[in-house]
Amino acid sequence: MNTNSLNRRKFIVNGASVLGSALIMSDPLIILAAGVQTNALTVGQIMDLFIKEIPDAPFANTVDTLKSGNRDIVVTGIVTTMFATIEVIRKAVSLKANFIVAHEPTFYNHQDQTKWLEDDDVYQYKAALLKEHNIAVWRNHDYVHSLATDGVRKQVVDQLGWSDFGNANQPVFSLNPVLSLKDLIDHAKKKLGVPALRYIGNLSQPCGRVLLMPGAAGGMSQIRNIHNHKPDVLVCGEVSEWETAEYVRDARAKGDKLALVVLGHAASEEPGSLFMARWFREKVPAIKTTHLPAGNSLSFR
Ligand SMILES: [Zn+2]
Repeated sequence: MNTNSLNRRKFIVNGASVLGSALIMSDPLIILAAGVQTNALTVGQIMDLFIKEIPDAPFANTVDTLKSGNRDIVVTGIVTTMFATIEVIRKAVSLKANFIVAHEPTFYNHQDQTKWLEDDDVYQYKAALLKEHNIAVWRNHDYVHSLATDGVRKQVVDQLGWSDFGNANQPVFSLNPVLSLKDLIDHAKKKLGVPALRYIGNLSQPCGRVLLMPGAAGGMSQIRNIHNHKPDVLVCGEVSEWETAEYVRDARAKGDKLALVVLGHAASEEPGSLFMARWFREKVPAIKTTHLPAGNSLSFR
């Protein structure tokens, strides 16, 4: 049995010999329950359970904070997702799940600052919905990316079937056999559930060396990695059109065979939320965990 497992059956509170953890013994909820078996696990306990798997964690500076609710909420169900959208929150309510673990911000900026949104009616609606149902939202971004093997990249690479072609923590994969850009795009769409995507390149050009950068790494990081690794294609979550896309256009005009595939941010990292769902199912099996893909905010036509 994995010693990290926090199966509810372990919560027979009868002294240090049972729990063996100062952290858990100091929890007021558990002390209240002394001598009885409790099924209660709080938001804070579940967060700590994951955080203790991360090298050098907890981090002093991180965006991985609670965006609503608090650590003491007793968890009735977990939802994992890329974005805690209003739609995802409504589905969580219908599932009677009160703990949403999201990879990206809830309030439309990296730090989830809300002061500037106080008078905004979309913000007010969402914050009130979370409050009404006493839902905790935890952003798990820095931590999941900081696992010994980045949890997001690991699941993306597994889904793409590329684990034999490179290391999940490394940016470049050497495909064997080499795919045409068209076949690479079709493969990524199928494996990552992407209905349509944007690209730059000649569909028949060979793509053997793939620079894989899920999410939104930013133009400078994407361009530096192209420079350092000389890939046939950059496969990424999103680009700023005025940065990386223009660089790729110029590189091609200069004669490089560089291609670009833009999967969409949510699609490119949603596997990380599936990774988290599987993690919770293994470590806290008594609590129901549901993975709700947030989907792409943008449509194509
Ligand atoms: Zn990410």
